[in-house]
Amino acid sequence: ECTRDKKISVRFLSTENYTCGVSKTESPLNSHFKHYLQLPLPEDKVFATYIWIDGSGITMRSKDKILEEVPCDLSMVPKWSFDGSSTGQAKTHNSDTYLIPSAIYKDPFRKNPHVIVLCETYNGDGSPTSTNNRVHCANILNKISEQEPWFGIEQEYTMFDSDLWPLGWPKLRGYPVTKARYSYCGIGEHIAGRDLVECHARACVYSGMNYGGSNAEVMKGSWEFQIGTTSGIKAADDLWVGRYLLNRIAEHFGIIISYHPKPMGKDHPGIGCHHNFSVAKMRGDEGIKEIERVCKVLCDKHNTTMKKYGLEDGEENRKRLTGKFETASFDNCKWGIADRGASIRLPRCVATERKGYLEDRRPAGDCDPYRVCTEIAETCL
Ligand code: ADP
Ligand code: MN
Ligand code: MN
Ligand code: MN
Ligand code: MN
Repeated sequence: ECTRDKKISVRFLSTENYTCGVSKTESPLNSHFKHYLQLPLPEDKVFATYIWIDGSGITMRSKDKILEEVPCDLSMVPKWSFDGSSTGQAKTHNSDTYLIPSAIYKDPFRKNPHVIVLCETYNGDGSPTSTNNRVHCANILNKISEQEPWFGIEQEYTMFDSDLWPLGWPKLRGYPVTKARYSYCGIGEHIAGRDLVECHARACVYSGMNYGGSNAEVMKGSWEFQIGTTSGIKAADDLWVGRYLLNRIAEHFGIIISYHPKPMGKDHPGIGCHHNFSVAKMRGDEGIKEIERVCKVLCDKHNTTMKKYGLEDGEENRKRLTGKFETASFDNCKWGIADRGASIRLPRCVATERKGYLEDRRPAGDCDPYRVCTEIAETCL
């Protein structure tokens, strides 16, 4: 596969991805931009965009490095470092923080052979930084790898216009006139931002992520994309790359992406990140027994789990899990079949086929999928 990549002679930075949506303003830069993007590059120069989660635990950062060859695997991507004091990850007097490449994706902005490199972050003393939850997640998933853990993740998010009001909502702080139930999977005047969703979908599939699909969400201006079904840590890796691409593509539209669990207050729907999970035993005959066992364990540790199911201590998620808008309460855990008011839902097919998977509906839109996958996978240790 790597050899095939090398043979591709097109070494132009494409303009296609920059014009797939309707640009809000046609600045003088845009008309000159194409010229630079079409400059032919030497054969032995590959752009690598290193991306990582910063000290906030939700915002991502990136910086570019020119490589001398197409990286076939992680061993061909050099380790790197950055100024952690400018990202909330280190003190000024001891600021060098390490970037350790952990997964490679194709770059949908510059296209083949250029790459995006998802990185873990480490302090100068070699310990993981406080927001590097990937290393622990990978350890736990390795321990249960013979059980073949699969994840499917549903990321909801809200698009804000540059005036910091949701996209498609009336200006001057007005509220949508149509009922929220017309927005879910809606069309026409009931939704806003489809061009961005389409660009994002194509960029995700191009990158090599296991992008599963998308839909308009209940609140106008909010959407969802799904990852998976994917085995092991790739689901969480892909989710972070999907977030990165979404925020990058939103730049072209002048749109701001929010993953906040309750962005518009108590009268409007929340933003979640459902995690679907199964192991081989759940997918086999009478798998429902294992599904029910895991549901019980998850509910038993509910209170400590909730601290990991949203940004920092997960407290903002309390605003979302009120029992309204297809959620359960923040303080109690209950699981049920086909119940969208449950904390953990077993899809209806689990009742009829007595096997399948579970859907943990508790994680907030701004959760770290590495923390959530760890919490779920630990039930199978
Ligand atoms: P809904 O909105 O009804 O919850 P979605 O289609 O948005 O449904 O999401 C379903 C998710 O379940 C997808 O991400 C899919 O990958 C995942 N999924 C389906 N089957 C399994 C399975 N056996 N194990 C883990 N995840 C699964
Ligand atoms: Mn510098
Ligand atoms: Mn969904
Ligand atoms: Mn949803
Ligand atoms: Mn769901």
